[in-house]
Amino acid sequence: MIDTEIKSNLDNIFKRVGAAAERSGRTMEDIRVIAVTKTVEADRIKNVYEYGLLDMGENRVQELTEKYDKLPTDCKWHLIGHLQTNKVKYIIDKVEMIHSVDSMELAKEINSRAAKHGRKIDILLQVNVSGEDTKFGISPGDVDEYVGIISRMENISLRGLMTIAPFTQDPQVIRPVFRNLYNIYIDIKHKNIDNVNMDYLSMGMSNDFEIAIEEGANIVRIGTGIFGKRDYTKK
Ligand SMILES: *Cc1c(COP(=O)(O)O)cnc(C)c1O
Repeated sequence: MIDTEIKSNLDNIFKRVGAAAERSGRTMEDIRVIAVTKTVEADRIKNVYEYGLLDMGENRVQELTEKYDKLPTDCKWHLIGHLQTNKVKYIIDKVEMIHSVDSMELAKEINSRAAKHGRKIDILLQVNVSGEDTKFGISPGDVDEYVGIISRMENISLRGLMTIAPFTQDPQVIRPVFRNLYNIYIDIKHKNIDNVNMDYLSMGMSNDFEIAIEEGANIVRIGTGIFGKRDYTKK
């Protein structure tokens, strides 16, 4: 039996995802919803799995590896938070995609660790569109250079871009951030660069995913909207 609160939260999220997708000329199937499971215990995460949502997002390496062992093997784990270079080795064989590549040093380390495991790993470049110094991510003006260099890394497949909007409820602040990243994404897509497949735009969280979808996101990362307010004391 799925926890009734989590089930109704998920029903609500998917309904809103579908409606926002339609407003942007797409359907629910075009949008990949990632359940952000940080601070949530494995037993509660299982509800999401039972519901049929298999994409899980974690922002810390240790939590990801712990939960990886506790949840079914067909879960797909996304690393969505800042990743330290020295921790790449712990997750390289466990993740579906790394959303938070924010330095060349990190890209190089992912490439060399992936090579050791004989795999090619999907990554997104995290862009700090709003320029807030509290946020990780490369600046918009550096994206082209990063794309050029990463496209030559044999064990990385660059799949798209990711951003986190400023922490505000004001759509007039949030919307232009998403629109900017969409434009960068489309520009790169149109260049048809070898070994670069711009097919994912990861933007939007519980408070702003509808705006993100309207502006072209096709991955949204939802935590509190599914699990309720995070309890940091339990972790
Ligand atoms: C925590 C987190 C989310 C989810 O945030 P909610 O507001 O709980 O939906 C999404 N993306 C990243 C990178 C996060 O760290």
